[in-house]
Amino acid sequence: MTRNDISDFTADFWNGNVELAGKRFLSGHFVVQILNLTPDERHLIAFDSRNLYDALDEIDNGYLYKRTFELTRESLLIIHRTTCKMPVLELLDTDRYESYRLERMFSDKNCAYIQEYLVLKGKQAENCYNGPVSRAAPNNHEAQLLNSGGYDLNDLAKTLRFYANIWSDIATLTVHARRFIDRLTQMRTFDESHLIAEANKLHEYGYSQSDLDDTNRSVFRAMRTAIEYVPIAKHGMKNQFITARRMHFDRLLDFLIADFFEGIHAGHYPKKCGVCERYFLVLNARNQKYCNRKDPNDPRKRPCTAVAADRGRKERESSKSHRIKSVCTTRLNTLRSYVKSGKIDTAFAADAKKLAQDLRNRAMHDDRYTFASYKQDMTQEAIVAAVEQKRKQTM
Ligand SMILES: [Zn+2]
Repeated sequence: MTRNDISDFTADFWNGNVELAGKRFLSGHFVVQILNLTPDERHLIAFDSRNLYDALDEIDNGYLYKRTFELTRESLLIIHRTTCKMPVLELLDTDRYESYRLERMFSDKNCAYIQEYLVLKGKQAENCYNGPVSRAAPNNHEAQLLNSGGYDLNDLAKTLRFYANIWSDIATLTVHARRFIDRLTQMRTFDESHLIAEANKLHEYGYSQSDLDDTNRSVFRAMRTAIEYVPIAKHGMKNQFITARRMHFDRLLDFLIADFFEGIHAGHYPKKCGVCERYFLVLNARNQKYCNRKDPNDPRKRPCTAVAADRGRKERESSKSHRIKSVCTTRLNTLRSYVKSGKIDTAFAADAKKLAQDLRNRAMHDDRYTFASYKQDMTQEAIVAAVEQKRKQTM
């Protein structure tokens, strides 16, 4: 099973599935979850990461001020509290283990320890000038500090980088996934072959190692992740295994890129529902336009597919009734112009109008009649002939 904390953020991918924190999902599931964050949720997590970047800059330069450390702790705890209930991170046990880990990492004791390590590293660097004869060898305590301090400092920097980038990672995923969804409108076939060809167009020039750690990473399909192959039990079978790719992530964006492309590989892709306008995961090559969830705007809370079918039927009906009515309107207009020009008198016109309206009402309720003879019965000649015939009969 994969670990479920941020210090070792891992997920397994195989055959269109992803397992995160012991739970299985369809690959592409998390991309859809991020796309469906509401504007309010996005606003909440668009936090200020400046203090975290300041600390990272100082660490890069070989020092760390206590004040920077304290400001960073304040910002990071806010970011942690805000993000621990959001998609993906809610599965990573952020409430318990991560809270405990951050508490220890951002204690005053750890700050003093990191500072001591950095100062010792600086002193050791002076050996560059001392030469081998007068080299200051570290004592036992210093040797131990040099040994473990590097690991702790890396862990601190990795954690700062992860939290500092959560918001920009979500923004990057959202921008690229929406661009991909826009491209779907020009496509006719939705199998893996066509999907990956379109996804590739998001970044045709591909891998760029140099900007992988930037805050605004531009290359959507490149990730920095360690991959190993692991056996995982087949669903429902204890002794049957299949091969999965286990990936270790330093950044949320790397996980989301993996989820997106592993999804494409399985023919899963995100789309916007034409009814409720929420995003959903399409699992086949059919041009599915609507999701299967309940439409929140429908008073009867029907699934979007049912709402769309109902709308389609109403539209077809209204266009049918529009065609029937327009034939009748044209006829009534002609009758009015005949009265004006004296071709027929008003009494005749009134009879003709009544007949045309009766035929229209019949056509509205009788599809067979509409199809068979409505148009022929509604020609000017047919109406005039029918009225004349009727008058002869009543005379
Ligand atoms: Zn929907």
